[in-house]
Amino acid sequence: MSPGDGHVIRSEEAPEPPAWQETLWARVEPGVCIGSGICLATAPRHFEPSGHTHSRTRSDAPVADSAARDAADLCPVEAIRLVGTPPATGPVAPTSL
Ligand code: SF4
Repeated sequence: MSPGDGHVIRSEEAPEPPAWQETLWARVEPGVCIGSGICLATAPRHFEPSGHTHSRTRSDAPVADSAARDAADLCPVEAIRLVGTPPATGPVAPTSL
């Protein structure tokens, strides 16, 4: 195929946006995060400070832009997980030691 051969790209042929943009949720592993603040600078829409040395996600909504993925890629200790299920809600079950 070459330009000008009469082929028209219809809108239904346009590539779909990457699936992760609609279906992934971000989580910060509190036992792993060292509080570098990189995610806060990279994706302030998705992350906020939590305590003195931790970060957390701002909401339980799925991430809808590449900033959260960039933050996960830049996190020096890989504390940010992009997962395919929403964060657990409700009370945390007690654990036995
Ligand atoms: S970039 Fe990683 S280590 Fe730094 S604050 Fe965010 S989650 Fe924590």
